[in-house]
Amino acid sequence: MKPVFFSLAALGLIFASPALADGDASWSAPHEPYRIVDNIWYVGTEGVGVYLITTDEGHFLVDAATEEGAAVVEDNIKKLGFDLKDIKYIVETHAHYDHVGGLAKLKADTGAELVASVADRSALEAGNHEGDNTNGPATFPAVKVDRIVGEGGTITLADTTLMARMTPGHTKGATTWTLTALDSGQPRRVAFASSVTVAGNVLVDNVAYPHIVRDYRITFDRLDTIPVDIFLPSHPVFADLEAKYQKQKTIKYPEDKAQPFVDPTEFPKFVAQSRADFEAELARQEAAKK
Ligand SMILES: [Zn+2]
Repeated sequence: MKPVFFSLAALGLIFASPALADGDASWSAPHEPYRIVDNIWYVGTEGVGVYLITTDEGHFLVDAATEEGAAVVEDNIKKLGFDLKDIKYIVETHAHYDHVGGLAKLKADTGAELVASVADRSALEAGNHEGDNTNGPATFPAVKVDRIVGEGGTITLADTTLMARMTPGHTKGATTWTLTALDSGQPRRVAFASSVTVAGNVLVDNVAYPHIVRDYRITFDRLDTIPVDIFLPSHPVFADLEAKYQKQKTIKYPEDKAQPFVDPTEFPKFVAQSRADFEAELARQEAAKK
């Protein structure tokens, strides 16, 4: 497999999202669901990560893919043998149509509460990206937010608690969700990480989002402090999930604990590369202004 941070696909995502009404065809394309660790399941499309976290008292869903991709997500949840009505909370990582376009359908079909940051709320309820962006309009079905979380806010079902970490910049309210999951009894620190790419955002004189540069830098500093054993990103390509999934098929789980999704060195490298990409794009935009 190609190295994740420099792959053409990843570079494409850096500049493509949230562009183009149809986006990348992989964002709505089917992908088979699979188990990542005891109670965490991949239920996304080929190109957009959506994760189901199951408990004895109901389930969480992280993100919803595109409007068209929502049907893929629902099929995947059912294929795994879970009931849509058992989903109690849906959380979002950031209000871009490739991750929240399917929220309205998933919320209606599950009856779950939608939990989001205060800074993403207005974008979700308007059905549009907020802030100056060179990628053009990127609308999605508007959806009502039921509960607001701030930095360090939590939601709990049974023995599983999801924590919200504010990681703004990519969108005003971009949120990275963390939890500790059991992997055959062993605790693993998991992050459902929001995208942190520039993605067409105007970094110099952004009228609708004036403090965007400060926010990105706060986010990179914050992400540097979060230890992550299992990195589950908004787009699977950012953590090369497909290669890990193919590798997982060749090992015996849970007997074999060396499972391919566990790598505490991966997330810090992702954050460092993302910070460098951001600073390079900021320098490029500043030079272009002069
Ligand atoms: Zn995005």
